[in-house]
Amino acid sequence: MSLLSRFYGNNKVNEALVFYQRDGRFPHGILLEGEAGLGKKTFAKRIAAAAVCTGAGEKPCGQCAHCRKIEKGIHPDVVTVAPEEGKRSFKKEQVESLRSDAYIRPNEAARKVYILCEAQYMTVQAQNALLKILEEPPAGVMFILTCDNRFKMLETVRSRVVTLALEKVSTEDAVSALMERDPSLDAEKAERAAVSASGNIGQALRFLADEKYAAVMEKADALCVKMEKSDRFGILQELSFFENDREGLIRCLMQMRQLLAQNTKDTFGKKKERRYRILPLQAAKVLAIIEQGEEYARQNMSMPLLTTWLGAGIGSAFEE
Ligand SMILES: [Zn+2]
Repeated sequence: MSLLSRFYGNNKVNEALVFYQRDGRFPHGILLEGEAGLGKKTFAKRIAAAAVCTGAGEKPCGQCAHCRKIEKGIHPDVVTVAPEEGKRSFKKEQVESLRSDAYIRPNEAARKVYILCEAQYMTVQAQNALLKILEEPPAGVMFILTCDNRFKMLETVRSRVVTLALEKVSTEDAVSALMERDPSLDAEKAERAAVSASGNIGQALRFLADEKYAAVMEKADALCVKMEKSDRFGILQELSFFENDREGLIRCLMQMRQLLAQNTKDTFGKKKERRYRILPLQAAKVLAIIEQGEEYARQNMSMPLLTTWLGAGIGSAFEE
């Protein structure tokens, strides 16, 4: 995805960026919040580019030397730090080395930007180290944190940054975003991916790229459809797909939880458009069963037993 391609939905964060770049003043610290797949890293890069871009007019211009280097990931003044590969820990040492670097003048740009990915994995010590810089940031230095949930950050850190929440987009916008990336994409397939991912473009891309993942996602949707029809036999039939696939079942249950939570949210949302005719109370009952099912799956309960247990439990949640 290029720096200039449209960032769908998310009016509030887009507007914030327009405001900062027109004003020429960026906050010292920005926290981008949102679940995986919503484009936090892409948007962090875009803010960084807008902050150092030297093009005329709207920033980032995508054309100047700064924008081009950021696009390629080789700008010396835009530094990305993330938890060590595969690890879920972001250590104090990583923040401290960056702290000494932050006091060195930028090489090429007017300011330095540090992008700290997955800040939710920062240890308390790492967050406290970061706090010291946020309290007295060297002139022109900017920090952009990405995080799945702002409440995983210390209150003291949160109070020093501007939090911008990235959101899922409408199905229509998700389809447009997918088609923009791959104009040869079949429209119906794009729609299925967008619906299955409930407007999470990253998840929709994975749906398109990974057949097995797509199959699991479609099963989760099919199960919710069978639920709204109180189709007990249908539910069992869909679940039997996973009789030899424990990992797949766990992923399917996780996806069902997401779909149901989204559905309940939509029930009370502005548009009142929900995908399944499932009442919040029914959703709550099923959620409890699904959570228990996930637990059983992780405890190695036999798969035939588990799918039968789930089928019976989910079915009974829909009885009057
Ligand atoms: Zn530029």
